[in-house]
Amino acid sequence: TMSSDDEGGEEYLFKIVIIGDSAVGKSNLLSRYARNEFNAHSKATIGVEFQTQNMEIEGKEVKAQIWDTAGQERFRAVTSAYYRGAVGALVVYDISRRSTFESVGRWLDELKTHSDTTVARMLVGNKCDLESIRAVSVEEGKALAETEGLFFMETSALDSTNVKTAFEMVIRDIYTNVS
Ligand code: GDP
Ligand code: MG
Repeated sequence: TMSSDDEGGEEYLFKIVIIGDSAVGKSNLLSRYARNEFNAHSKATIGVEFQTQNMEIEGKEVKAQIWDTAGQERFRAVTSAYYRGAVGALVVYDISRRSTFESVGRWLDELKTHSDTTVARMLVGNKCDLESIRAVSVEEGKALAETEGLFFMETSALDSTNVKTAFEMVIRDIYTNVS
């Protein structure tokens, strides 16, 4: 977390990471939030490390620096540098693929191992537009989030459901923790 005071206005910079199994929609959640874009054929993200999104809270300028994996999660090798300094995390699964929900515990463990501060965490069940092939119920998502002490939200990067809300809830929670 960084906070600077110039010309009377405070500025905050929060690092937020997006984690979860391959193809759950991490990159599309970020592109939907930061650029209002969706890519039906996205391959592993190449090049882009993070995107910065600005928000105003209580008259303060808040910059969320949101990190996306470059596809390393396929090799179970997300590095400690990825997590370093993160104060927020979205842990994403795909509601149509049960195995991605079963991986959540492992991602939470990895996050715990690599983060030294209090991290604002949200469990995100993405692809809620795929209701007809749902493999994880809303109740199961909620229950896991409650057990682990996380926020919970189902989203769709495809039709935009709750994407902005999910990111902003995490950002507001971080702000509350530091202000
Ligand atoms: P990542 O590997 O976790 O970064 O996942 P991607 O963002 O690359 O998405 C993997 C695939 O899922 C792509 O084909 C996306 O178009 C698709 N996808 C991502 N989000 C959604 C969503 O909310 N709904 C649907 N139906 N497909 C999605
Ligand atoms: Mg990706």
